[in-house]
Formats: sequence, C-alpha cells, structure tokens
Amino acid sequence: MTDTLDPTIDATKAEISRIRLRTQPFIDGQFRDAIGGRRYVTENPATGQPIIEVAEGGAADVDAAVTAARRAADDGRWSRRSPGDRKRILIRWADLIDGNARELGLIETIDAGKPVIDTVDLDMPETASCIRWHAEAVDKLYGQVAPSPEGTVATITQEPCGVVGAVIPWNYPAQMAAWKLGPALATGNTVVIKPASMTSLSLLRIAELGAQAGLPDGVLNVVTGPGDVVGEAIGRHPDIDCVAFTGSTEVGRRFLTYAAESNLKRVLLELGGKSPQIVFGDAGDVGRIAANVAEAIFWNMGENCSAGSRLIVHRSRKESLLEAIQAELANWPVGDPLDPGTRIGALISRGHMERVLEYIAIGRAEGARVVTGGRRILEESGGWFVPPTVFDGVRNDMRIAREEIFGPVLSVIEFDTDDEAVALANDTPYGLAASLYTQNLNTAHRVARDLKAGVVGVNAYSEGDMTTPFGGYKLSGFGGHDKSVLAHGQYTETKTIWIQLEPAGQP
Ligand code: NAD
Repeated sequence: MTDTLDPTIDATKAEISRIRLRTQPFIDGQFRDAIGGRRYVTENPATGQPIIEVAEGGAADVDAAVTAARRAADDGRWSRRSPGDRKRILIRWADLIDGNARELGLIETIDAGKPVIDTVDLDMPETASCIRWHAEAVDKLYGQVAPSPEGTVATITQEPCGVVGAVIPWNYPAQMAAWKLGPALATGNTVVIKPASMTSLSLLRIAELGAQAGLPDGVLNVVTGPGDVVGEAIGRHPDIDCVAFTGSTEVGRRFLTYAAESNLKRVLLELGGKSPQIVFGDAGDVGRIAANVAEAIFWNMGENCSAGSRLIVHRSRKESLLEAIQAELANWPVGDPLDPGTRIGALISRGHMERVLEYIAIGRAEGARVVTGGRRILEESGGWFVPPTVFDGVRNDMRIAREEIFGPVLSVIEFDTDDEAVALANDTPYGLAASLYTQNLNTAHRVARDLKAGVVGVNAYSEGDMTTPFGGYKLSGFGGHDKSVLAHGQYTETKTIWIQLEPAGQP
C-alpha cells in the first residue's frame, strides 16, 4: 500500500503533499506554539508512518485560551451581535468548509485512517451542514412571556452560558467538533475545544476557516495535546461555564468529578454504546436487512459510538441472514483509505487494533465461533487493518456482547420470543442506539417504545438527521443531546425578568 500502481492514489498522495498542515494551538485568532514548546508526532494509521509533529499543549495553553474566550464572552463581541449577524458569519464558515471539503477530507483520511469516500463526501459536507443548520435556526427561536398577574410583565429568555469547553474523540474528528461548535457558537458562546491528540489536523484548519469567515478573535480557540493534561485542564478550569464531552464512558465520568471539584460547571456527556439490532421472524427482505446490519457495524471500521454491535436475531432467520451478511461483505472492501473503492480503512492506532484483536481472542475463548474475519490483515502496509468480523453463537453475558469493542466486530445472538428479544436488547449498561426489523406495525411501535435507547431505527440503521436529537440512556450519555434545537438549550442559561409596572397615572 505504500507503493501503489494505482495512478489515482498516487495523484492523491501528490495532492496531499501540497497541503499546508496547521499544527499549533489556535488561540485568540492566531496559531502559536505551545507555551512549553513541546511537540508530538501524529501518525498515519494506514501506514504507521509519521505525518507531522503537532504542538503538545498543556494547562498553561488552556489558561491562555480560556482568558481569550472569557474576554470575548464578556465584551459581547459575539454574544451581543444580532442573531442574524452570527448566522451570516457561521453560514460563511460552513460555505468555506464545503469549498475546502476535499482538502479537509484528505487531511482527515491520513490522520484518522478513514476512507476518503467517507471523509470527503460525507463527513465534511455534514460538518458544514451541521454548522449551517444551527446558524439558520438561531434567528428563529423565540423567548416566552409568562402568564404573570396584572401589573407585571415576566419574560423568560435564553442567554449564552459564556465560555464553553469541548473535548472530542478521534472517530469523527470534524463532525464531532461541529456537533458542539454549531449550537454553542450559534447561541453566542465562546469556545475552547480540544481535539483528540491523534486527530487534531482537520479541526485546526477548520478553525482557520472560521477566522476567515469572520469569527472574531477569541471566539473559537483550539488547544491540542493529551487528554489527561489538556482535557483535564478544561474539565477543571474555574472560568469555563459548561463543558461538552464526547468520548468513552470511563473518561466521561471524570468530567463529573472535575466539575464537582471545581466550579460545578454544566457537564454534557455523549458516551459509548453496545447497540442492539433486533431482527424479528417477520422481518422483510433479508438482503436489505443485511445491508443495514453491515452499515451499522462496519461503517467507520466499527469505530462508531452507535455501532450496532449486537445482532439479536430470531432463530428462524439466523442462517439466511448470516449468509446474506457474508454476501454483503463484497460491498465492504478493506484497503488503503485513499483508494476511492475502499469502504473500510485502518483502525486509529496500533494500540487500538491490538485491543480489538484481544476482544476477538476473548470471543473465541468464550466459545463464540468466528464466521468471517477475525485476524489482522494487510500487515505489509504498516497500517492497522482488521476486516469485518462476525461471531456466531454469542451469549449476551459474554464480554464481547457486553463491552464496547469499537471495531468491526459483530456478535450474533439468537432469540425465540419477542419478549426475550427486548430483554436481551435492554440487558446492557449502555443505551445509545438500537434498530429493529419487522413488518408488523404493532411490534414496531411496541418494541421501539420498550427499548431503552436514545435513538431507535425501525427497518433501518439510522442516527436520524440534524433535526433529531442524539444522546444516550444509561451509561451512554448524561445531561444533554447533540443535534436539533435541543442542542441549543443546553448551551444557554434560562433567565426570568420580572417587571413590576407602576399603577396608571404615576409619574
Ligand atoms: P476517549 O474517552 O479516550 O477520549 C475522548 C477525548 O477525551 C479525547 O480528546 C481525549 O484526549 C480526552 N481525554 C482522554 N483522557 C482524558 C482525561 N483523563 N481527562 C480529560 N480528557 C481526556 O475516547 P476516544 O477513544 O477518543 O473515542 C472513543 C469513545 O468515544 C467510544 O467510547 C465512543 O463510543 C465514544 N463516542 C461517543 C459518541 C456519542 O455521541 N455518544 C460519539 C463518538 C464517540
């Protein structure tokens, strides 16, 4: 894969070599070195080779970014602009992201191992459309007038929280940033955001485009560096009013501690999952279901919080569905993420690949049977590739059915009765997403209601779209939602203004 004969990939590599990568924190409208002067290497997961050195920020850089964000919040350079003005700037920013989607997508592909067809054609357009959607909504949201007694007027309005901290994961670096930045900036906050240390490059370029679009200095600040330093400094900072985190449940918990031990900042957590896909005996066309099931677990190499990692299938449908899934794998080629034919690229790092392979070994040791996949491939590339892996004969109490693997590994679990299917689906500490397949309207409604998950897809794998909230039950989320107008409320404070009117005739 390092030496390819494919002229398209060679041309793409030449194109990438001409991109000027931004590698410094972006604070108060400028790129600047980390205060400690340290740098670390970011690698290409598809080759294991270094891409470039990125500045390793620390607590002092977070402090500088928060100072700039606080100044910008307090002087109202953003919050007191009219919603229409903010909208115009944010839409200009979204347009610039669209206009630079190819460059941004290529950056994302080399930094995160994601297929170029996903990064260029999906992630970047969705990043832009998320920012645009929240921008467009912001001058259409009204406050309220309360039914207060005669002689009084009471208004209920939303005000920006102030300074928002955001800490995001590596699986959708640009999109996860946009899910926070869109609503937080549209509602008038200033932001200090930390990308995952392995995938900082796209967000730095997106921040630069924000400045080009007209975001005032200090409104958007990006600090790169390790989670346990930069992330913790954001979580504990006394001058951050609200923190929005997407990542693992384990790290998410820490943000509650950070907030409790600092200034009780508002904490919004989007966390992990172990999402079920239920296929009932009366489900429709097996080929269509197999396509959805494969998308649910193999999209983004399974590095997806809402991955449908447990296939809970009626005993009568299992064999035909397993066959259809294996046939469907022809549509999921694994390979160089720069190849437009690739649908499954590299896992994010050697460490993560080893974790996924360890889970596969655990599944075998627990007695589940590998139907397909199950080992590292394309080793000669130097990258971290694991093909679609399907385990049959899984019990829901096995570790591969309970713990988030975050890789392309599907566990197949059989059931006999509808009640058993729902019980299996809900028997998990997580509750992010679920899907169900049936042709019976009653089953669809009843089970969708009974599933303890924030997003339920019926006869499709779906996270909804920008108009629908995304967030989890149980260990999958806390305090809020991404997307939709619900995301606006969580970045605002509610203010009541109670006005006592003087009686008529008083001066
Ligand atoms: P992670 O929790 O390891 O890291 C997430 C972010 O937290 C990174 O920026 C990281 O640097 C930072 N971090 C790490 N340790 C920290 C600490 N001690 N204090 C403060 N910050 C710290 O998660 P990840 O491996 O980057 O991403 C995978 C996880 O994210 C999975 O569990 C996945 O399900 C979850 N995820 C959830 C959603 C959602 O919307 N629910 C979306 C995408 C990913």
